[in-house]
Amino acid sequence: MNILRAEPLAYLKQLAEREPEIILDLPARPAETVAAPDDRPERLAELEREALSCVRCRLAETRRNVVFGVGDPRAKLLFIGEAPGADEDRLGEPFVGRAGQLLNKILPAMGLERREVYIGNILKCRPPGNRNPLPDEAAACLPYLRSQVDIIQPRVIIALGLIAAVYLLNIKPNVAVKALRERVWGCRGRPLVVTYHPAALLRTPSLKAPLWQDMQLAIKLLSGEIDWKPERNLVLEV
Ligand code: URA
Repeated sequence: MNILRAEPLAYLKQLAEREPEIILDLPARPAETVAAPDDRPERLAELEREALSCVRCRLAETRRNVVFGVGDPRAKLLFIGEAPGADEDRLGEPFVGRAGQLLNKILPAMGLERREVYIGNILKCRPPGNRNPLPDEAAACLPYLRSQVDIIQPRVIIALGLIAAVYLLNIKPNVAVKALRERVWGCRGRPLVVTYHPAALLRTPSLKAPLWQDMQLAIKLLSGEIDWKPERNLVLEV
């Protein structure tokens, strides 16, 4: 026999424990919302494992280390440089040479620590003699960077130097950084600011002031003081 007929009180007691809003006329509990798991560190680590054994281009033959990237997988700010140099190739970490030391001084001036941002490059392997990346090398390597951007979901991207800007915005290299600064571009749905490469500042210290202006623009985007909407801005794709 069914419990409702046999023991109606016991049944109601059970129901009240299970679903009190039915018995006590409480407002229905909101449906439980399950937050998507934030598995950015795991996904980035998986991508890094794949990149560490990459042989998609000739640079695999001459590199000492794959320089995947460094920093917080949940970083709000993503810096992208060109390619590892000799120091980075030796140590397997981006921006650890002279340009990196300068970047390490710029970050605290922005109120940030190196470990809270993410730093990567267009190429993960050093081009011999620090030559510019070749288009086929960039084409082979860019899928890693696209995935890094999509996993990290930074609030703002900063392209350090012309090579980074050209590949992130998919434009011809017949422009100067000067022409790309002081505006907000879009890259994979995220605002992107172009500035000078720290190595350019080492050669031309007068670029310090414009670089600092660009960092201020990035800070305003980060804080929401400047509102960026992809549809209102020039959006190009990495
Ligand atoms: N220059 C770059 O563009 N990237 C590095 O990692 C180091 C120097």
